[in-house]
Amino acid sequence: MKTTLRGRLMLSFLLAILATTIILVLVANVVTRDRFTYMVSFSGQRTVQRLAPVFTSYYVQVGSWEGVETVMDWYNETRFQGMQDDAPHPMNPRWEKDYRPEVFAEDRLLLLDSNGNIVADSAPEAGQIKLPSGIEEKGALITVDNRHVGALVIVSALGELNVYQSDFLRQVTRLLIAAGVLIGIIGIVVSGIQAKRIVAPVKAISKAAQQIATGDFSQRVPVAGDDELSEMAATFNTMATELERQQELRHRAMADIAHELRTPLSVLQIELESIEDGLSEPTPETIAGLQSEIVHLGRLVEDLRVLSLTDAGELHLDLEPVAVGSLVAGVVERMHRAAAEKGLHLAVKGAESAATVQGDARRLTQVLLNLLANAVQYTPAGGTIIVAIETTGDQNVSITVQDTGVGIAPEHQLHVFERFYRVDAARSTKGSGLGLSIAKSLVQAHGGRIQVTSTVGQGSTFTVSLPLMPAAILPKTPGSA
Ligand code: ADP
Repeated sequence: MKTTLRGRLMLSFLLAILATTIILVLVANVVTRDRFTYMVSFSGQRTVQRLAPVFTSYYVQVGSWEGVETVMDWYNETRFQGMQDDAPHPMNPRWEKDYRPEVFAEDRLLLLDSNGNIVADSAPEAGQIKLPSGIEEKGALITVDNRHVGALVIVSALGELNVYQSDFLRQVTRLLIAAGVLIGIIGIVVSGIQAKRIVAPVKAISKAAQQIATGDFSQRVPVAGDDELSEMAATFNTMATELERQQELRHRAMADIAHELRTPLSVLQIELESIEDGLSEPTPETIAGLQSEIVHLGRLVEDLRVLSLTDAGELHLDLEPVAVGSLVAGVVERMHRAAAEKGLHLAVKGAESAATVQGDARRLTQVLLNLLANAVQYTPAGGTIIVAIETTGDQNVSITVQDTGVGIAPEHQLHVFERFYRVDAARSTKGSGLGLSIAKSLVQAHGGRIQVTSTVGQGSTFTVSLPLMPAAILPKTPGSA
């Protein structure tokens, strides 16, 4: 049989309740019995203390216990008659007022002689009674002229309870069991409700997870309260949202890849067909155009390859000490023409920096070229692009590419490093939305970080931080000690 979480929870709740109730009932019962027996015994002792003078006076008058049954009869009668205030007393008519015994109606009174043998029994019909040794101590000793002539004992003082007393204890036990059963029922109801409350979100999550497994990423679960379960539900929803976004990105990526490949391929096909049909001449210009499409295709394929390699952690880096100053100078040099053609001012700050990083110069160049190409593309004529090198502490060097371009809105800043993410596809006609994600992957492969800050209409600043090469392993430059 399948054991459900709800069943298991209820079972554990019930076991806990059952154990607690049984222990409580048992302890309460034992304590009540113990205290009650003590109380009965104590009150029995008090009774015999009060009755002892009656028997003493009998002994004094008669000189022995002979005929003492009359006193026992009086005892029996008095207690059965309810002991009216004016009940007569066989020895002392005033006694009733002075020594009125406060006894339970069923208390069996025994009179023992000096040897501990029973001389008189208030209820011989109740059967033989086995007396433990030292019994006298539990009763009242009867002494006449400093002579121990007997002892008066009440049976309940021996720990033996009469019918009413036992009945009282049975009543208490019954009540305790009833209370236990009631607690158990309340426990079942409460644990049932609690178990349902705990299991409901788990079930909801499990159902939603199954739906997600079948590809329905729109599934969300309700989040109520602020306990761990609602936290789990909220985390699940975040995960579902992320999965949905990833799925969307994947779909878009496939569509983008298809689109990116189709455009240059169509151009190539049309151009080649028109040459084949004799509609156009294979002039150097036409061939250059075809080549540029092939270069574009090649770059796209290469970008995808780099991304898949970094994803798999298999990108090979040719690590060597790279002087950041000359790296930046080289990239700026390569971008100078493009910037100038667009009427942009391109400047470098901190080119003299001696910062050196352990890196793959080709890949780092690719990162900076992507950033600079974007800055050139998204900065209108007359704008400025500044590439600055700054050493932060003795751990990192940061390279910032700052432009005065169109800027990126905050909601897009979070996503620009994602694959195929383009803020405005119409505006970035040349780009495929891979440049920044490649830059990020490459920087991360170097143990660095890349960030963006931007204000729409004012410009963007992309910052690449790379760990500096430790001084101990820096290559010695001429002139250095
Ligand atoms: P693309 O190759 O399409 O430029 P990127 O990954 O390099 O793709 O950039 C992603 C998006 O980020 C671009 O579509 C562009 O909208 C935005 N972006 C990148 N750099 C800048 C910049 N310097 N200024 C404004 N927007 C930028």
